[in-house]
Amino acid sequence: KCEANYAALTPTTFLKRAAAFYANRTSLIYEGTRFKWRQTYDRCSRLASSLVCLNIVKHDVVSVLAPNVPAMYEMHFAVPMAGAVLNTINTRLDAKNIASILKHSGAKVFFVDCQFVPVAREALKILMNNSEPSMMPLVIVIDDIDSPTGVRLGELEYEQLIHKGNPGFTSVELDDEWDPIALNYTSGTTSEPKGVVYSHRGAYLSTLSLILGWEMGSEPVYLWTLPMFHCNGWTFTWGVAARGGTNVCLRNTTAYDIYRNIKRHQVTHMCCAPIIFNILLEAKPHERCEIVSPIQILTGGAPPPAPLLEKIEPLGFKVTHAYGLTEATGPALVCEWQAKWNKLPKEEQSNLKARQGISILTLADVDVKDSETMESVPHDGKTMGEIVLRGSSIMKGYFKDPKATNKAFKNGWFFTGDVGVIHPDGYLEIKDRSKDVIISGGENISSVELETVLYRHPNILEAAVVAMPHPRWGETPCAFVALRNKSNNDSNVKVSKSDIISYCRKNLPHFMVPKRVEFVPELPKNSTGKILKFELRERAKAFEQV
Ligand code: ADP
Repeated sequence: KCEANYAALTPTTFLKRAAAFYANRTSLIYEGTRFKWRQTYDRCSRLASSLVCLNIVKHDVVSVLAPNVPAMYEMHFAVPMAGAVLNTINTRLDAKNIASILKHSGAKVFFVDCQFVPVAREALKILMNNSEPSMMPLVIVIDDIDSPTGVRLGELEYEQLIHKGNPGFTSVELDDEWDPIALNYTSGTTSEPKGVVYSHRGAYLSTLSLILGWEMGSEPVYLWTLPMFHCNGWTFTWGVAARGGTNVCLRNTTAYDIYRNIKRHQVTHMCCAPIIFNILLEAKPHERCEIVSPIQILTGGAPPPAPLLEKIEPLGFKVTHAYGLTEATGPALVCEWQAKWNKLPKEEQSNLKARQGISILTLADVDVKDSETMESVPHDGKTMGEIVLRGSSIMKGYFKDPKATNKAFKNGWFFTGDVGVIHPDGYLEIKDRSKDVIISGGENISSVELETVLYRHPNILEAAVVAMPHPRWGETPCAFVALRNKSNNDSNVKVSKSDIISYCRKNLPHFMVPKRVEFVPELPKNSTGKILKFELRERAKAFEQV
């Protein structure tokens, strides 16, 4: 630690700065509730002081189960200001999973939004049966600030803590900028959920890099479609304060709620998984609004099919594509747009945009390596390898799990488990998750490549391709497809399974063509909108046996 000029990097300083310089700008809107930056700072200081009065000490874990409501936003500052670690829990988890997160994290306080009281009550019952009474967290309910419900759980309510708190509270001093700020459990798409620990430094640097990478200018009006529980809202919880912008909070993310808030508050920015594109595109006429000036969307979390990118932009959305994972504090690569691409045909532009891009500024390095030789693959856009990352925005490690932490890092590189290629211009493109690659007769088939072709079919709304066991080829592709217009039954749609296979034959090399197509009303997805391929693989396994 350099004593002379040392100031630990922490994103809580963005709030203090916003209160000083943007004091009277609107910080947050939620239905009829509005705050200015000086009020947000006041509320966060009060809440932090109340937490300290409740005996929360440095590095204690404070868990929260809440949608994108004002309290969820405020806790991103108040909890670290109290020296504690914020653990935002995925609101779509069941009671058993919530209980195991509370137990594993050793949460001292558990904030529960009124909407999630039933599942939280159930989770606390499970926890009670598995823990010592002294290990139970203090439960605090968050009532809806705009339309109070009166629903209660535990002795205390969030607004009571704000009311009793001290607005002159001084943040608990950090030992070091590497102190933990947040604990986020992975969504467990491919393995058991693990607790990913972020440092103040990593969160601070990632926030700045993403503001720059996305070119988020001053005074953005940011709509909270991305859950804040997902990698702290890809760091934009802290980022909106850094830019003196306005947070538009919302409880639900239906097409109606999104369009209504866009229109009412002249939204300029939002983040979302590509799955939200379909919600926006399929909205009924009465749910939509005209988009007057372009809205910047940062998308990621799953591959955005190029054909969907082509359809969403004419509605008035300007998409930037990012790639990342919980372990990288959210987005680690951004597909930075180059002016020379503006002249290209639309289809070529969306193919370029569908690539995952180049590293954000705080990542020291990104590479694609052959997992066996550990050599970097050539930048030829063809040779596949595992995507590896290193730098300031990579997690400190997995909480209480040194074995998993050691396994994830080799020679300082974090191994993502994603398979990709690097193009001659240095842009990286994901071909698959290593577990999703289909190996047919010794050839690697990228399910993402196949899905991109399927998404170009006019009748297809959603598509996912997985490996199906095959006696001769080992594995072959099996496509699960949801058709447009909700008329997904084989009987009443215009397009048949064999039409889709013929379409694939025309657009793909023969060995990549799915051997089987299955129509489904909707693809199974997890809480962050990722398609659950392991579920589809299980279904595909059964097909081989019949
Ligand atoms: P989980 O790994 O439990 O699903 P994460 O939210 O950390 O939880 O997911 C990260 C994974 O999501 C990445 O490893 C990658 O497979 C996928 N992913 C994220 N962004 C993109 C993207 N832009 N394109 C393709 N895949 C992506």
